[in-house]
Amino acid sequence: MRLDLVTIFPRMFDSPFSETIIKRAREKGVVEIFIHDIRAFAKDKHKMVDDTPYGGGAGMVMMPGPLVECVESIDRLSSSLRVVLAPSGEPFSEAIAREFAALDQLILICGRYEGIDERAKEIIADREISIGDYVLSGGEIPAMAVADAVIRLIPGVLGNNTSVEHESFENGLLEHPHYTRPEIFRGMKVPEVLLSGNHSEIDKWRHSEALRLTLERRPDMAGRFADPVNDVKNKKCPKPKIETK
Ligand code: SAM
Repeated sequence: MRLDLVTIFPRMFDSPFSETIIKRAREKGVVEIFIHDIRAFAKDKHKMVDDTPYGGGAGMVMMPGPLVECVESIDRLSSSLRVVLAPSGEPFSEAIAREFAALDQLILICGRYEGIDERAKEIIADREISIGDYVLSGGEIPAMAVADAVIRLIPGVLGNNTSVEHESFENGLLEHPHYTRPEIFRGMKVPEVLLSGNHSEIDKWRHSEALRLTLERRPDMAGRFADPVNDVKNKKCPKPKIETK
């Protein structure tokens, strides 16, 4: 996959894209990342990319000219999508991350100030995506979140493909809890079933825990998937017993 990021703060991407999983994905050639500086397309000597809003009001708005020119300067591959990050966009999800991970090219466009001139969005945005119901200062952190969620789904990026299989949201459920050594920590013992070596019982326990957590913490999610709700209702999945000494 080719990932293009359009921003006025190119250096913000230095560290997140040079560490751990994304770093390895780049080294393996699974993903190529290009950062495009909108200011390079500014026309005046001060490299202005924003201006005051028509109609008055606080703040500045990203001018359409430099942004549209910057986005249009990016070569397109055959399956390519231009995505503008915006609080008013479609809520981002694992399902959308999966859709994006199947593309040849994802172009993420970061807004700043009060946002982007609406006409620019009409020209450059195939989709508008929000990462949640809160307002950040710019689209760079949302773009990093989207990029990370997408890149880890590309085959060959994570060590082994089963790593994402049971993760939260993959099957409409939150993931079950995890435990590692020591067996007893501050008097709390790892659930007995995980020490049993009985893989079918372990699978059952993990599934029932995933159902319980989803219903407890995300009833909205459970509501979207008929089976988990019924499973939880019928089985009344119990809370795990953590034995203490
Ligand atoms: N005035 C805008 C509003 O009320 O919707 C907020 C603009 S915000 C300060 C500046 C930029 O940050 C936006 O153009 C967008 O690119 C990005 N941004 C902020 N919050 C976001 C979110 N929750 N999801 C995606 N992008 C966001």
